[in-house]
Amino acid sequence: VDLYLDRRTFIRDMGKGVIGIAVGGLALVACGDAETGSDSTASTDAAPTTGATTTPATQPSPATTRTSTSTTAAAATGALTFERVALGNVSAYLLVRGTEAAIVDTGNPGSAGDIEAALSSVGLGWADVGHVIVTHRHGDHVGSLNAVAEAATDAILGTGAGDIDSITAPRPLEAYEDGASVFGLQVVTTPGHTPGHIAVWDAATSVLVAGDAINGSGSGVAAMVDGVGGPNPQFSPDMAGAIDSVSKMAALQPDTILFGHGDPKLGGAAAALSALADQL
Ligand SMILES: [Zn+2]
Repeated sequence: VDLYLDRRTFIRDMGKGVIGIAVGGLALVACGDAETGSDSTASTDAAPTTGATTTPATQPSPATTRTSTSTTAAAATGALTFERVALGNVSAYLLVRGTEAAIVDTGNPGSAGDIEAALSSVGLGWADVGHVIVTHRHGDHVGSLNAVAEAATDAILGTGAGDIDSITAPRPLEAYEDGASVFGLQVVTTPGHTPGHIAVWDAATSVLVAGDAINGSGSGVAAMVDGVGGPNPQFSPDMAGAIDSVSKMAALQPDTILFGHGDPKLGGAAAALSALADQL
C-alpha cells in the first residue's frame, strides 16, 4: 500500500493544540541530502538587498478575513498554541500566539497550499505569519520554503547558522545560534542529523519542536521509548553529535514534542526522552 498516495485523507488535524489523527503505519521515508527541488526558483530582483523588515505584532491586518477576533496588540507575547500540518511523510507546524503565527518547516515541494489551509483553519492567513523557521536543510523540510516565503511576504525567515549556506530562499535568512530568541521561542542547536540542525523550545508551555533530531516514528531509529525515537543513523552523518543533542533536549524536560516525522508526543515526553537518552 502506498500510503503517500492517500496523504490527503489525513492531511491535517484541526484545532489549536489538538493533534491525533492516526497515521499509523506511515513509513519514515528518506530524509537526506538528495535534491528534491523547490516550489520555485529564488528571485534575484524581487527582494530588497537590505532584507525584510517587518513589524508583525503591532500592525493589525486591514480587511481581515479572520474569524477569531479576540486579540490584543501584544499578540507575540500570548500563550502558544500549535497546529500540526501533516504532509504525508513529514509534518510542518504552526505555532500561534494570539493572531500571529510562526511556521516551523515547510514540507516537500507543493506543500504551501496545505499550510495555507491550516492557517485558515485557525482563522489566520499568510499576512499573520511573522516567522518561518526551518529546522534544517533537508528537502522535506525546506521543499516549500520558497513558496511559503513568497506568500508570507512579511515573515522573517531563519534557520540554524550551520545549515544556512545550503538553503535557498527568496530573501535572506537569519542565522540562529544556540539560545537565540525567535517569536518568544528559544533556539536550541541540535547538530548531528545535519551540522546546523535546530530545535525550537517554548519553555512556558513545555513544547519542543524537534525537527529530525529525534523521531516520532520507529523505522530505522537508534532506539524508541514510549513514542520517542532516537536519531536515524542512516540520515545522521554525525551520530555522536546527534546523541549529544538528544541529551541536550532531554535536559529541557519537555512535556510535548513535535517531530518532523511521526506522531507528536503529547504529554509525558520528558520521561520518555530521558529514558531514550540513557539508551543511546
Ligand atoms: Zn532531515
